[in-house]
Amino acid sequence: MTFSSQDATARPLRVGIVGGGPGGLFTAWRIEQLASARFAITIFEASHRLGGKVLTPSFTTAAARYEAGAAEFYDYSPVGDDPLRGLVRSLGLATVPLTGAAVIVGGRRIANLDDAGAVLGQDGREGLLAFDAWARSAMTTREFYDSGSDHAATAAPDGRFDAALAATCRLPARSYVEAMIHSDLATEPATTTAGYGLQNYLMNDPAYMRLYRIAGGNEQLVTAIATRLAARIRLGTTVTRIAGVPRAPLTVGWRDGDAVREEEFDVVILALPVGPLSQVVITDTALRTSLARHVAHHDHPAHYLRVTLLIDRPVRGVPGGDDYLMLDAFGGTCLYVESSRDPTATHGVLGLLIGGAAAAELAGETDDVLAAAAVEALPPGLGIGRREVLEARVHRWNGAVSAAPGGWVPLPVDRRHRPSPAHPNLFVVGDYLFDSTLNGVLDSAEHVAGWVAADLAGDPDGVQPQQNHA
Ligand SMILES: Cc1cc2nc3c(=O)[nH]c(=O)nc-3n(C[C@H](O)[C@H](O)[C@H](O)COP(=O)(O)OP(=O)(O)OC[C@H]3O[C@@H](n4cnc5c(N)ncnc54)[C@H](O)[C@@H]3O)c2cc1C
Repeated sequence: MTFSSQDATARPLRVGIVGGGPGGLFTAWRIEQLASARFAITIFEASHRLGGKVLTPSFTTAAARYEAGAAEFYDYSPVGDDPLRGLVRSLGLATVPLTGAAVIVGGRRIANLDDAGAVLGQDGREGLLAFDAWARSAMTTREFYDSGSDHAATAAPDGRFDAALAATCRLPARSYVEAMIHSDLATEPATTTAGYGLQNYLMNDPAYMRLYRIAGGNEQLVTAIATRLAARIRLGTTVTRIAGVPRAPLTVGWRDGDAVREEEFDVVILALPVGPLSQVVITDTALRTSLARHVAHHDHPAHYLRVTLLIDRPVRGVPGGDDYLMLDAFGGTCLYVESSRDPTATHGVLGLLIGGAAAAELAGETDDVLAAAAVEALPPGLGIGRREVLEARVHRWNGAVSAAPGGWVPLPVDRRHRPSPAHPNLFVVGDYLFDSTLNGVLDSAEHVAGWVAADLAGDPDGVQPQQNHA
């Protein structure tokens, strides 16, 4: 059974997408590209802007931009096809590579094995070599690339990352590794999987992955897609309710002042992070039960806190000339020199991405306290104190990403995206289903768009209710 039986005279397939972040936009864009038959897409976005956690605001003191959410794009093209790289290229957006190889431990810079020996001692150097050899043997570049797919397999142990680290990485190398990946994980080793921890270690090796950003601001990706969409966009519309019995159109409900509004769709796609997803009221019992199970499987909140400093002079790289480095402050924090590759910059922009437990704890502090703590954490070699800071911006992202994307035991890809076999027309899209990144949410969007477009083309394989593999 398909969710549409479209013929030439039929009305368009009505597709409702809830969430106007990258997930919702990517899905709409791909459906519009893939579907040859008629459809009408509506995107519901709670806030008054599109883009979700991809946003590039400006300071008020100077016309300098900074990344408040996602700061880097992951480039897998050295290993295989990279849909995000392809999308960015097809939209004509210029990109800038990002490099960084150093970790500051106790005020001293470790950028290679010799530094590791000097700072951590011979024991630390050997511990690091042994862990690195284990990590590479546990996950090859191809296995890294395939992680998250149905055929993913690695030699990495199951279970928690802290247990894997304890077994394979002795102190003091372990503290170095933990500081190095803490900001990418956005959680602690005890609250993530061995596989995800390993990925976040290996991604620092250019053989596994490279980093880039979009020249002029990552939000341009969002803008470029939004301007090309034919979809109807409803900003300022927080969806509160989904109603509908199995194998029938679904009703999307939202509040409009005191009134409750609703609209019927043949297909509904919930492109929401786990927190907002869990807030949506589901009226059908089967669907409610399935979505509750889906949320419980994926509910592993991880936290970020970003403090960005506007500096009164251009700053063009951290010691060593990199675009970013890792600090051991706050359990491991990434320091981005956002102004690094801009020869015309009149000001410096330094962004600190604090993750995990420290981010959650510090979120209650005032912006002034956080700005002072950020300045305190800067490497002395930068020569920047409070007097040089013209303005500080703080963005709190509690629970905004997943500590264990895919869950502790990943479900098959179709089951991940269609939580209720009884509702083959209800999909979810999210980075939490893959790897907590834009690459992951694009993969997720591509799967769902492919199924929806296949149905529009009359391909019964596109939408057959999937087997419950769980
Ligand atoms: C600080 C930080 C740094 C990051 N860094 C990187 C990085 O460097 N590289 C990378 O690849 N990824 C990074 N990420 C992750 C990246 O931002 C996400 O993968 C991406 O934003 C996920 O897109 P999404 O559409 O699923 O969710 P979101 O971006 O959260 O978008 C969801 C949208 O849904 C809307 N919404 C919520 N509830 C409702 C509702 N009830 N009705 C209607 N609309 C609703 C929200 O307003 C939002 O616009 C980072 C995330 C954070 C927080």
